[in-house]
Amino acid sequence: MASDSLSSLPITRLKGVGPAAAEKLAKLGLHSLEDLLFHLPFRYEDRTRITPIGSLRPETGVVIEGEVMAADVVFGRRRSLLCKVADGTGMVTLRFYHFSAAQKNNLERGRTIRVYGEPRPGAAGLEFYHPEYQVEYQAGNGLPPLEKALTPVYPTTEGVSQKTLRNLAGQALQYLQAHPPEELIPAALLDQGGLPSLTDALSKLHNPRPEDPVNLLLDGKHPAVQRLVMEEMVAHQLGMLQKRAGQKAFCAPQLHGETLFARLQASLPFALTGAQQRVIAELQADMARPHPMLRLVQGDVGSGKTLVAAAAALAAIESGYQVALMAPTELLAEQHRDNFQHWLSPLGIPVHWLAGSLGSKARRETHVALADGSARIVVGTHALFQDAVQFQQLGLTIIDEQHRFGVQQRLALREKGRFDTAAGMQVPHQLVLTATPIPRTLAMSVYGDLDTSVIDEMPPGRKPIDTLVLPEGRRPQVIERINDACRQGTQAYWVCTLIEDSEELQAQAAEATYSELQAALPDLTLELVHGRLKAQDKAQRMARFARGDAQLLVATTVIEVGVDVPNATLMVMENAERLGLAQLHQLRGRVGRGGEQSYCLLLYKSPLSLTGKKRLAVMRDTTDGFVIAEEDLKLRGPGEWLGTRQTGDLAFRIADLMRDEALMEPARAVADGILADYPGLVEPLLRRWLKGGQHYADI
Ligand code: ADP
Ligand code: MG
Repeated sequence: MASDSLSSLPITRLKGVGPAAAEKLAKLGLHSLEDLLFHLPFRYEDRTRITPIGSLRPETGVVIEGEVMAADVVFGRRRSLLCKVADGTGMVTLRFYHFSAAQKNNLERGRTIRVYGEPRPGAAGLEFYHPEYQVEYQAGNGLPPLEKALTPVYPTTEGVSQKTLRNLAGQALQYLQAHPPEELIPAALLDQGGLPSLTDALSKLHNPRPEDPVNLLLDGKHPAVQRLVMEEMVAHQLGMLQKRAGQKAFCAPQLHGETLFARLQASLPFALTGAQQRVIAELQADMARPHPMLRLVQGDVGSGKTLVAAAAALAAIESGYQVALMAPTELLAEQHRDNFQHWLSPLGIPVHWLAGSLGSKARRETHVALADGSARIVVGTHALFQDAVQFQQLGLTIIDEQHRFGVQQRLALREKGRFDTAAGMQVPHQLVLTATPIPRTLAMSVYGDLDTSVIDEMPPGRKPIDTLVLPEGRRPQVIERINDACRQGTQAYWVCTLIEDSEELQAQAAEATYSELQAALPDLTLELVHGRLKAQDKAQRMARFARGDAQLLVATTVIEVGVDVPNATLMVMENAERLGLAQLHQLRGRVGRGGEQSYCLLLYKSPLSLTGKKRLAVMRDTTDGFVIAEEDLKLRGPGEWLGTRQTGDLAFRIADLMRDEALMEPARAVADGILADYPGLVEPLLRRWLKGGQHYADI
């Protein structure tokens, strides 16, 4: 049998499935034999052995077998049918509230009955409420043999009974065993801890033996599950590799110029870190190729990503192409604009600006300059990919904090540089920066189609931030500490973290804290920023703080990214327990940017949940963004970690990213092996596992 025969055999080929049943099964996503086989039980019932009535305890799922002693309709609070069953070790009652006359008659005294259900304490000792049961047809006829395998319980929907699903799965299994399909993971590649064949794995999962370790099956730790997980992960890896190959099939301008960046570097008051040099070399090599770069640069807060981006931008500009740098917030975009202006104006390259707050005249001017090519680099926000924006020759897009953008938005920007050439479709090179370290597990599964560079070294002289976790009651001492620190010439942040979505409420809370702190710190000058301020107002206030005209900045989490004031060495975060680790880490990164020792004080409201305690302890114990990201992933799970925008990317059917992390790398190796030696298996694997299309972060 060909490997795809299972998926091409419609469910209607099975006995008992007509059009009406097929329609209901389709609601469960079950169309083919293959669908049925991969529709796995979520628990099992043990109907392989009989429990003596005398030793029944209230528990889940047991089989008893005995003789019907009596079946009577009683009229108590509710009319019910009570059936007494005895087996020589004891007697137990079956209770039915819904029943028919035929049912009562069938429970004839003296017949043997087998009951499956959950005994519970009732009026007459232990009782079974509405259990499943079988009665022998005639006294003395006997019942069929007990089940030999555990009974699977499947996820189902209205109108599809467990009995139907068991029956169909049974038929599909019989077919599978009679026509074992070609293995989509060749045995030669599958020497991972003795994983079974697909046929054996599926047989085990649908019909485990009573002696099998059911817990392992249900927890996904049994080799039978791991076999499927492995195959699914391999398929995902292949999907991503294929997609990457598709990307690389586009053309891109070959951008190689290193003179401008060399000049910038010579003007810097510091030397590049080794990590910065390595990553810049990777970018330059990528961009010199005639195919588009697609590279994610990860670097912890303060690792110096901006300069790395500048190196890429200068290579493009030197080669006669334009550059667009997009950031998710105006504050962050401004910070980039200012940095780039500082670095590029001495080279005679003006930096253009495009953001929502820009007046219509200035905006039109930028549009014209981008279209006629007089603008070589533009920095901005979402305003960059609007329809009215056209480039003369866009060669490189740089996106900061990609996870805050949708895929479509990034692609919309890329489209601005797309055109037909004699050699084929040309698109710009793409560089994505992120300070939110992506745990390896996620990076491999979600961003597997991206090249990744990591800036894993901080500029020298930075001292790790000292973090303290304090109860809210220590507020007066904390305020005193701010006073002392600021009077010695440093600056501080006070972050108000109201988790409400409403900017209005956040702003109000920040206003209130601001007034309170102003009263408590009469010798200091305070500034306040929150999301409700006009961009210009916000910028002015930030600038005053950055210049040192104010010592304490009271802010909402709007300062999360982009703010760079090296003189600030103290940060207080209120209600720190409400924030995720990644966000706390980002916020904390606003201090520790100069040569002085910095401190972060995390105030929490008691009582703290266990997870809350753990989270804050992680923050206290490490400043390593990768460790924090891994812990965050463990504590919150991948969906929440990535935010709603990308959770769809993680829709594995059987694999579980956290549970199956250890299989990720072996799966990648198997995927590489398949591409190299068994290319014919790629299509069937993708068809089996990714039939709904691919849902990767389309970077
Ligand atoms: P991030 O990676 O968080 O975006 P930035 O690019 O904003 O970091 O850099 C943080 C600060 O470190 C900036 O003030 C920048 O000028 C400075 N910086 C960057 N590279 C170096 C270096 N190699 N040595 C010293 N300081 C550096
Ligand atoms: Mg940055």
